[in-house]
Amino acid sequence: MNEYLRQQAEAARGFMPADEGLALWQAGTDADPSLGPFLEVGSYCGKSSVYLGGAARQQATVLYALDHHRGSEENQAGWEWHEPDLVDPHTGVLDTLPSFRRTIFDAGLDDAVVALVGDGPTVARHWQTPLSLLFIDGGHGLEPARLDRELWVPHLAVGGLLLIHDVFPDPEDGGRPPYEEIYLPVLDSGRFTEEPGLGSLRRLRRVT
Ligand code: MG
Repeated sequence: MNEYLRQQAEAARGFMPADEGLALWQAGTDADPSLGPFLEVGSYCGKSSVYLGGAARQQATVLYALDHHRGSEENQAGWEWHEPDLVDPHTGVLDTLPSFRRTIFDAGLDDAVVALVGDGPTVARHWQTPLSLLFIDGGHGLEPARLDRELWVPHLAVGGLLLIHDVFPDPEDGGRPPYEEIYLPVLDSGRFTEEPGLGSLRRLRRVT
């Protein structure tokens, strides 16, 4: 990853550690763009989008960055991951889209990152394009995690890479839904092989 993009990614708001971000970028450069574009679920302020978008541009493909931009449950007032300055006074809830757009603009990635703004399950039910890379970092509650798996994983092409963030086998380390509702069922499906991940980032390749 070039130095400019790396610095832009590190400066962006968000909760992705730099080493996991670089592992995301690496996965993007390892993906086969002939299988389709990249898609991430849960862009927040665009930090992961810079890592994946940088790889997408290098691969001459595109990253679809999907988010309703109103924050997940854990981002709302009273929760651990709440950032009050991101609240839109008009709606009284989060609006991370302006911050996302600044992040992508500053990184010079407007040609490689396409924002999809809306409800993830609604978009998934109408989506038709096979994906070469799918990154799931959406809502970490049980139901959002289950829906992301059920509705998005089938869109990954055979040979494509599935990346899952915030996978914590030990409950002491963090919430369980990404582990129990996404990672374990995907592995149990027999359709994926696991490749080396990093931190809470898991990397699986669809083989059938
Ligand atoms: Mg995350």
